[in-house]
Amino acid sequence: MSTAAPSYYGPDFGALQAFDPEVANGLLAELERQRTGLQLIASENFASPAVLAAQGSVLNNKYAEGYPGKRYYGGCEQVIDPLEQLAIDRAKQLFGAHHANVQPHSGASANIAAYFATVKPGEKVLAMSLPHGGHLTHGMAINFSGKWFDIVPYGLREDTETIDMDQVRELALEHRPKLIIAGWSAYAKTLDFEAFRAIADEVGATLMCDAAHFIGLVAGGVHPSPVPYCDITTFTTHKTLRGPRGAIILTNEQWAKPIDKAVFPGTQGGPLEHVIAAKAVALKEAMDPSFKEYAQRILDDIRALASGLTDRGYRIVSGSPDTHLFLADVTPKGLTGAEAEARCDEAGIVLNKNAIPYDQNPPAVASGIRAGTSCVATQGMGPDELTHIAGLIDRALTGTDDDRAAVRGEVRDLVDRFPAYPVG
Ligand SMILES: *Cc1c(COP(=O)(O)O)cnc(C)c1O
Repeated sequence: MSTAAPSYYGPDFGALQAFDPEVANGLLAELERQRTGLQLIASENFASPAVLAAQGSVLNNKYAEGYPGKRYYGGCEQVIDPLEQLAIDRAKQLFGAHHANVQPHSGASANIAAYFATVKPGEKVLAMSLPHGGHLTHGMAINFSGKWFDIVPYGLREDTETIDMDQVRELALEHRPKLIIAGWSAYAKTLDFEAFRAIADEVGATLMCDAAHFIGLVAGGVHPSPVPYCDITTFTTHKTLRGPRGAIILTNEQWAKPIDKAVFPGTQGGPLEHVIAAKAVALKEAMDPSFKEYAQRILDDIRALASGLTDRGYRIVSGSPDTHLFLADVTPKGLTGAEAEARCDEAGIVLNKNAIPYDQNPPAVASGIRAGTSCVATQGMGPDELTHIAGLIDRALTGTDDDRAAVRGEVRDLVDRFPAYPVG
């Protein structure tokens, strides 16, 4: 009997359909939804079939508490250890980092570990305010970060809608935070990591970057890297990096051991080795020269989309984007963010409402929309398509129900020309 490929046992969609058609049909319906709509949600992407294959594998079955070479379970040495080490080595190489921990289950888990390693409950943390583009884990009142730490928020200047490093420095000098977080979930500009480092040094704070959104652009060489400046860099692997859902933490020499201890046993149990294998695949993809073209296409695309909307009377928050996303103020069209999201949805355009800085509307309503080009760039769409999409968005937002039905048809034509997960 051959021991080659036929012995492989991986995901068996036929078995799922036979045993549990409700779930199988859900998977197919979601594939159909992803392929037939225009996906502009800035935090999403289409992971490759190779990434999905590693993730949907028998590696799922293995317990591996600990780290390569130091496990609390047998059976890890032959396969699991080398695979996790491969992911670690690739992460270090790709980002020029001293140390990588590839076990965090999610971006939030990575940040929990980073707090756990660097600050005690009640200590001060300087981080970007949520309504100005920060993340839940950067101090939202009902998140662990806001409940357990004394958060000092920094924001955007009202005139430029960019981070004011003088304000960040003043707040740091006044409050002397133990930890400073650079990073965001909704901000169209690059950060001044050198200035953040100088401020952290001046007040003796640990500097962490939460690069969840833009790390793929760093990997592709089109965005400055936080790694040389920051003690700790956390990032998700499923946004611009286009891998499995999860996260990685990079550190300098000083924080390597504390971060490893904070991830396990500090805040997590057994690592998800199937996801870690998929992270290794995504990191290999990001090391390929084609990923540089991909990252550049993301930026070319977002700029085409932003200028197309500007030409039609929308206001792009913070000016021309330097990252894969922007916020557009829709109030010049007499709309709220919630209305805009719903109208786009009717037209097959998937994006989200978002508060803009100094928003007059409550967060559930909001005055803006957030759009990103990671997905459409993965599909191969270029600036010409994005200029066209700006027109589709405008027609969806300002037109009638009939217009939105027509736009939905045009969206369908467009995504048929640039299919996600092409068949054959
Ligand atoms: C997306 C994001 C996270 C959280 O990632 P999850 O995997 O959803 O937990 C953390 N920080 C920032 C800045 C993010 O944008």
